[in-house]
Order: sequence, then structure tokens, then C-alpha cells
Amino acid sequence: MSNRRMICPKCGAEMNQHATKIDYDVDDPALIDPVFGGAIKEVHTCPKCGRTELRAAE
Ligand SMILES: [Zn+2]
Repeated sequence: MSNRRMICPKCGAEMNQHATKIDYDVDDPALIDPVFGGAIKEVHTCPKCGRTELRAAE
């Protein structure tokens, strides 16, 4: 799990990662994890404005 913070593109606050999910709707085979069969994404939410962003996990 990454400790890098994501900055909210809407209000600039530091977002909190609160989940990791598998995205099976990915077209790029380079992003697909062969173990999980999908792309691993980090789910980040903004504590200020509530925006949710997905980012590819590292
Ligand atoms: Zn925000």
C-alpha cells in the first residue's frame, strides 16, 4: 500500500486513501494484474469536498 498522498483536483486538499478495489473494466492489458484479473486501483476521497478519485496502485 502506498503512502503517497493524492491532492484533490477540485479543492487542492490532501485526499485520504480509504480502499483498494479491482477494476475489471480496463482495456489496457499493461494495467491488469494477472493474479487478480483486473487493474488494482486506490480509492481516494477528499475530506473537504467529498470528491472521490481512483488511481492505479503501484
Ligand atoms: Zn476536495
